[in-house]
Amino acid sequence: QRGMAVTAGPRSSELYARACRLMPAGVNSPVRAFASVGGEPIFYDRASGCRFTDADGREFIDYVGSWGPLILGHAHPAVIEAVTISAADGTSFGAPCAREIELAELVVDTVPFLEMVRFVSSGTEAVMSAVRLARGVTGRDAIVKFTGCYHGHADYLLVAAGSGLATFGTPSSAGVPESSAGHTLLLPLDDEAAFRRLMTKHGDEIAAVIIEGIPANNGLLPQSESFVDVLRTECTRHGAMLIFDEVITGFRLGPDGAAGHYGIEPDLVTYGKIIGGGMPVGAYGGKRAHMERLAPLGPVYQAGTLSGNPVAMAAGAAALRTLLADGGSTWDRLETLGARLETGLREVFTKHDHQWSVVRRGSILWLALQDGPAPVTAEDIDTGAAERYAGLHAALLERGVYLAPSAYEVIFVSAAHDEAVIDQTVAAFDEAVAEVFG
Ligand SMILES: *Cc1c(COP(=O)(O)O)cnc(C)c1O
Repeated sequence: QRGMAVTAGPRSSELYARACRLMPAGVNSPVRAFASVGGEPIFYDRASGCRFTDADGREFIDYVGSWGPLILGHAHPAVIEAVTISAADGTSFGAPCAREIELAELVVDTVPFLEMVRFVSSGTEAVMSAVRLARGVTGRDAIVKFTGCYHGHADYLLVAAGSGLATFGTPSSAGVPESSAGHTLLLPLDDEAAFRRLMTKHGDEIAAVIIEGIPANNGLLPQSESFVDVLRTECTRHGAMLIFDEVITGFRLGPDGAAGHYGIEPDLVTYGKIIGGGMPVGAYGGKRAHMERLAPLGPVYQAGTLSGNPVAMAAGAAALRTLLADGGSTWDRLETLGARLETGLREVFTKHDHQWSVVRRGSILWLALQDGPAPVTAEDIDTGAAERYAGLHAALLERGVYLAPSAYEVIFVSAAHDEAVIDQTVAAFDEAVAEVFG
């Protein structure tokens, strides 16, 4: 494997040095710093469709899509128009406005089991609020989380497994008190027996079981239908709420997200990313009886100065309307493009004699650069894969293909990608794999 390439151009490098004096590692969210692939981060200058131009004027095909929101590609005309028009009407009201209703109607009318939503400004906030609501509704404190699922950065969700199978979590970040992690029970994914045992023992103390619709923040780890069914059945049996965190999968896998994919009804669902069309929006929702426990109707407090922000609502509504237009054919298109990329990458790996996996659900892909079956739990992921990924990442950047700067992050295909771009990407992989692992 060859050494690390220089990834950033001179102008990017200069911006990075300036940024590092002012912001930790020069970034406002850690994975952007390229720490796990090496090299310096590339500064975006502008973006359109499936491409962006960096600060040095170089063009890249983008497979990050702002980490999921940009299912229509960068600067989609419908979104830009909605943002421009609504911004001219005022950027924030802190009071009700029709644009909130428009997005709420789109969401509630699209997702069959949703009766009400509340908007917040990020996925983290959506999850925090949904967990608080579940605790308020059930009068219980404990929650169950699965190793390898990411639910934003609330204290009690930044937990790692202790020793043993079903354990109360220990903080995975400095600054998280043992006491907040101590209400979170951690389990491995894909282990029905462990989950059943835990529910038998603690089920009546558990407010909520939370899982990513399809775990996509630590590799892509699709779970079996039977595992998801067991979650549903056991939660119902013990009066715990099942929270589907659909911050990535909501409106990505189709109109009704992972819940639709599995054919189950969670009690609460959280959204982010796509629902804001590239603006900061999160949402959580469920049945009316549960949602009406929120303040000011009920005792569960949750608020936000910029919640339901009119510009963000307009962007989200424009994105959802575009997705839903023409019978939702955009999702079919994304399936076609995703499948083409999957097939192309599989062929490249096979051609170069690597037994690696390409995991895909719709327009979400993940490269498991390890032999053997594709991982389904966080524990299955081979740590050597990250090193292989770093080499591949740099070689692809040299060829104008921008993947997420972390082996554990997925590839997002957008509706602005097309066959020619996918084929160009596959050709770049062919060269990169030969060069790095040759
Ligand atoms: C991104 C993400 C979050 C956190 O959303 P932010 O908007 O980054 O706060 C929560 N859950 C899942 C599944 C996510 O992918």
